[in-house]
Amino acid sequence: MARTRQQNVTAAQWTSNGAALGAADLTAPGSYPFGEDVFSLDAQRKRLPKDVFKRLQATLHRGEALDPSLADAVANAMREWAMEKGATHFTHWFQPLTGSTAEKHDSFYAPTSEGTAIAEFSGKELIQGEPDASSFPTGGVRATFEARGYTAWDPTSPAFILENPNGALLCIPTAFASWTGEALDHKIPLLRSMDALSKAALRALRLLGDSDAARVFTTVGPEQEYFLIDEQYYFERPDLYTTGRTLFGAKPPKGHELDDHYFGSIPERILAFMLDSERELARLGVPTKTRHNEVAPNQYEIAPIFENSNVGSDHQQLTMQVMQNVARRYGLVCLLHEKPFAGVNGSGKHNNWSMGTDTGLNLLEPGDTPHENISFLFFCSAVLAAVNRHQALLRASVANIGQDHRLGANEAPPAIISIFLGAELLKIFNTIEKGEGDPATPGSFLGLGTPVLPPLPMHGGDRNRTSPFAFTGNKFEFRALGSSMSLALPNTVLNTIVAEAIDMLCDKLEARGSNGTSSHDAIVDIVRETYSANKQICFDGDNYTEAWHDEAERRGLTNLRTTPDALPWLVEKQTIAAFERYEVLSERELESRFEVSVEQYSTKLNIEAETAASIARTMLLPAAVRHLGELRAAGHEGLIGETAGLIDAFVTAIQKLEEVNAHHPAEEGLEHAKWMRDNVIPAMDATREVADRLERIVADDLWPLPKYSEMLFIK
Ligand code: ADP
Ligand code: MG
Repeated sequence: MARTRQQNVTAAQWTSNGAALGAADLTAPGSYPFGEDVFSLDAQRKRLPKDVFKRLQATLHRGEALDPSLADAVANAMREWAMEKGATHFTHWFQPLTGSTAEKHDSFYAPTSEGTAIAEFSGKELIQGEPDASSFPTGGVRATFEARGYTAWDPTSPAFILENPNGALLCIPTAFASWTGEALDHKIPLLRSMDALSKAALRALRLLGDSDAARVFTTVGPEQEYFLIDEQYYFERPDLYTTGRTLFGAKPPKGHELDDHYFGSIPERILAFMLDSERELARLGVPTKTRHNEVAPNQYEIAPIFENSNVGSDHQQLTMQVMQNVARRYGLVCLLHEKPFAGVNGSGKHNNWSMGTDTGLNLLEPGDTPHENISFLFFCSAVLAAVNRHQALLRASVANIGQDHRLGANEAPPAIISIFLGAELLKIFNTIEKGEGDPATPGSFLGLGTPVLPPLPMHGGDRNRTSPFAFTGNKFEFRALGSSMSLALPNTVLNTIVAEAIDMLCDKLEARGSNGTSSHDAIVDIVRETYSANKQICFDGDNYTEAWHDEAERRGLTNLRTTPDALPWLVEKQTIAAFERYEVLSERELESRFEVSVEQYSTKLNIEAETAASIARTMLLPAAVRHLGELRAAGHEGLIGETAGLIDAFVTAIQKLEEVNAHHPAEEGLEHAKWMRDNVIPAMDATREVADRLERIVADDLWPLPKYSEMLFIK
């Protein structure tokens, strides 16, 4: 039997409904009530009139528009189900451009004229909500006076119930658009990009001789890194609770040098938190799978089983929310910032991505028949072409202020995007390029001179942790995402650019006069040409080295080090062309995303700088001065001189920081962001540098901030 089908999940798992996914074979560990708080396929089947259920399923599986006449019946069933579970309110749950999730709660109960209340929740309320669009960032799409925005029910992502000690809330995943029809959220473009990719991939599948598949889904399985620290320290650090990261803090004597934390045994309180989060996520139909310690002290990782991009992305938002809530029950705080502690490994999110058909094939899984292999190579080379062409856009899709502390530092993939193929796959492409070996016969295909069984053992030990975009056996892993990010934009970009590349390859195939199924040789030619033209993006070595930076520059790969460098690629000509062609985002919608991202960068940087100045001036400086007073009282000349000198330097640095904070440069938008990057960050760094030296000499009982060693080693 073909390996492809055997190893992969069934179509139902990556189609429509996350709930369908958990039902039988993917039950989470132990006896978790998987999907209990989800208006699952099962719940729908039980509660909806038969014909309504059938028509709803057709919408979900074929991606067809929803018939509004179904809405009342669905709303009714959903309300009854939710109220039985104790829900009193419902909300349209959506993802505005801030990158977080938003809720607007409404009660199920409507007052009657007799002074009582009746339970009410109509199809109209299910399908459409009307939050105030001007309160969310729109990047100029909506002015404050044109407040109207709509949330629209996304029937392809299952509704769920969020419990609270004092009640329960029915959450309905929705899209968010302005009344002029522009997308104001991250879900709409993601859904559109999934459609675009499906169309392009189906076109390719027909040319490759597959006439069965009716829909192609993109899949995502994110690995999320995070820190847990004791909440007492969190609340003692204004930098942590206002900016999510420490703005001061000397490096602890012990870091991850001993490598004793990674995969070490998990302490009891942490394990209790993990079990509780997993149980809660299981109830919500989020299939979590792995947990372990990460590289840095008090750093951990959680990964779910993959789902289709839309549901996976919603579930990822939910995962971040649940982990933050559950942590508090254990006196912990879950930090999702990309770099909470300077000098300590930061947190990323690995975005495992693939494409699968409704007939259960993973298009990035090498198979054991010549036919499957050639199809795999076709899609694989489309990914190479897409990533090469849009490398800068991919970089821009993962740009935020937190990321600027990671990408490029030797702990995360660099800001240069390249693809790791692994020795075996690289060898295959090189063989094809040289025109040696026939991909039709797996033996010569690998050029190893042995019959290859299993056919392409890609997983063989061959791993590269430094690559930003790695082939890992049956999927690509985009490793450059930041830990706090929504998956939506990077996946929207991936889907769109791969759709474009697939279409380009199909154009070439068709230009060869193929009508119907293309000939084997024609496909091999296309793979060869595509690889030749794009192989500059492939790099299997150590991405952290200076040598690679030089080599990448020679190859002409982009190296966009900071967020202000990267963001303009969201509105580059070739980005706009691809996004407009596939109707994923219009130029105006891209502009709005660009503007919101720029504004977020400047705003967050400003908050950091003001917080740093205030902590330095009102907490650290007084501590240092008190310390100096004690030294003077004790009359120790040497120490007095050392401390007084540092205090002088500190005052100078603080004044400089206050000066840049007060300065309002004439520039706006991107120019302003660049001005801040070039002036505010150095002033913050200079202040911190002196503060961290003071931390090492000021009496511990006078130092007002919890130290790195406390935050990182108390579990
Ligand atoms: P690794 O250490 O190899 O990265 P993990 O098991 O930690 O492996 O994570 C692998 C992630 O990749 C999981 O979230 C898994 O669900 C996901 N994944 C596996 N197959 C696919 C696929 N076809 N599409 C998307 N994600 C996938
Ligand atoms: Mg990984």
